[in-house]
Amino acid sequence: MRQYHKQEMREVNKIICNKCGKEIVVERGVPKQDVFSVEKRWGYFSGKDNEVHSFDICEACYDEWIAAFSIPVDTENS
Ligand SMILES: [Zn+2]
Repeated sequence: MRQYHKQEMREVNKIICNKCGKEIVVERGVPKQDVFSVEKRWGYFSGKDNEVHSFDICEACYDEWIAAFSIPVDTENS
């Protein structure tokens, strides 16, 4: 979840982890911690036809989430 300043142009004010509720401080539009951000439009062959879901997950919740995967995520360093 993201909260915005009320201005003509929207600027991220803070980011809140949808899982644990932790607030990630944003200074001048730059988050002070990295987050996992998703925006997904569900397609016709789903039970959520054309719904758009979006959320932000902090790194700690992300790590906890992917640790439960049966197949590990692909990791690449560049
Ligand atoms: Zn979290």
